[in-house]
Amino acid sequence: MNRFLQRLWHRVIGREKALKPPPQASPEPPQPKTTRIVPPPLVRGERTLIVGVDFGTSSTKVIWQDLSDNKFEIFAWCPEKTGLCALLLPSTIDIGNSKIYYGRSHEEQTKGVRLSSIKLCVLCRSNPQICSCGNSCAQKGMVHLPGSAETYPANLLACMFLAHVFRTVENTLQTRFPNDDLVILWNVGCPMDYLDVSKRKNEWEKMTGLALHINKEGIDLSSTETLSHIAGRLDAFTVPIQSERNFLVLPEGLAAVKAFLESAYAETKTYAIVDVGAGTTEVSFLFNGRDMKERGHPLRPCYLADSTHPAGGLQIDSELAKVWNCTVEEARSLKHQGQFNLPPLTTVQKICSQYVRTCWGIVKGRKLTAASDKKFDLFVIGGGGRLRPLHKALSSQHMPGSFVLENARQLQAPKSLRNRPAVQNDYDFLVNACGLASSLQWEYYPPHEVPPMAAPNQKAKIDPDEYYPK
Ligand SMILES: [Zn+2]
Repeated sequence: MNRFLQRLWHRVIGREKALKPPPQASPEPPQPKTTRIVPPPLVRGERTLIVGVDFGTSSTKVIWQDLSDNKFEIFAWCPEKTGLCALLLPSTIDIGNSKIYYGRSHEEQTKGVRLSSIKLCVLCRSNPQICSCGNSCAQKGMVHLPGSAETYPANLLACMFLAHVFRTVENTLQTRFPNDDLVILWNVGCPMDYLDVSKRKNEWEKMTGLALHINKEGIDLSSTETLSHIAGRLDAFTVPIQSERNFLVLPEGLAAVKAFLESAYAETKTYAIVDVGAGTTEVSFLFNGRDMKERGHPLRPCYLADSTHPAGGLQIDSELAKVWNCTVEEARSLKHQGQFNLPPLTTVQKICSQYVRTCWGIVKGRKLTAASDKKFDLFVIGGGGRLRPLHKALSSQHMPGSFVLENARQLQAPKSLRNRPAVQNDYDFLVNACGLASSLQWEYYPPHEVPPMAAPNQKAKIDPDEYYPK
């Protein structure tokens, strides 16, 4: 069997076997407030954590993995709250009175400028035609501060937002492990396909790299005076080579695939993952296999096709607002209530055709030929995936090249996720953060490295070793 594969499965299986049941938090009797438990003196050690940062269009999610026990944990932004809202940091920036505020919710909005989706503004900057932000201060990815002649690019504000995220997470983790020197590896998701056709990776790497620097330098992130200083540095910032940095920018589609590999599924099968975010949709097809019994099977697990497209929940909301003749916020709340039948929506059609088109890529590239491999399971993840009509439309698509959908399933959280039962119903929001926190290496193959199958009339010469893995 392929060496890579063995490593992958050894890792997955070995890890599951090694898994002990989570230590039961024995209900401790309530302590009187004045009592302090003095911890026994500990030897200072090194602890490596992988932190997955899913910088989403509407909210940012963080999951970290402790490599000492391979447990995943979701970062709580508001530990005092319960449920999903404790785990989501709105991807917003508010600017007023020379102060910058990060992650304020709609209710906490103050007077001043609000960027309700900083990520969308970054995308608008590189593709001004898509801008439908309708914000008087932020257009086509440029932000004008009222009462100031200055204009700032959205990637500068995204960099500040990421620095805020890194600082908050790092401080909390340091408090959590006061006796350890933390080695943190940051993985940040980016809306790009594997080949980075949209040329976004470098911009994301610059934002992330500089954000880590300004976090380390302890620069004040809350003052607008910082902006012009950081603007100059962002332009001049050179991304260090991979071996000399503690962060990676990964395609969001790959994050979803890694989350799948971390989940409890391990069948030899083809899978489609459609991640409908607020502003973008990622479609990935992968073959998950470990042995090959039949001629024509791919001989290794591989990433068959992927695509990313700027269509998602926000576009659905603005379409609904037009049809229902109301504001986007009203449309969104009506959509969430689910009381109305939705009209046929262009965005839903766009997402469906992206899904079919991505599948076409596999057919055209002849990356799968066996009929049994063309039966696949579908996972729809991301906030937009909760829209029933979209789910239904995706499930009923006629797929090209005899591809047939067998099951539409819900992605399960890894067994080693702390507090797993409590978040299972909301896991579709957290999938990418979990995949970004994964320690699985790139041990399967990206779409462009997967060779086509031999043409059917040609007799493919197959190495007996491939039939009979050693
Ligand atoms: Zn815009």
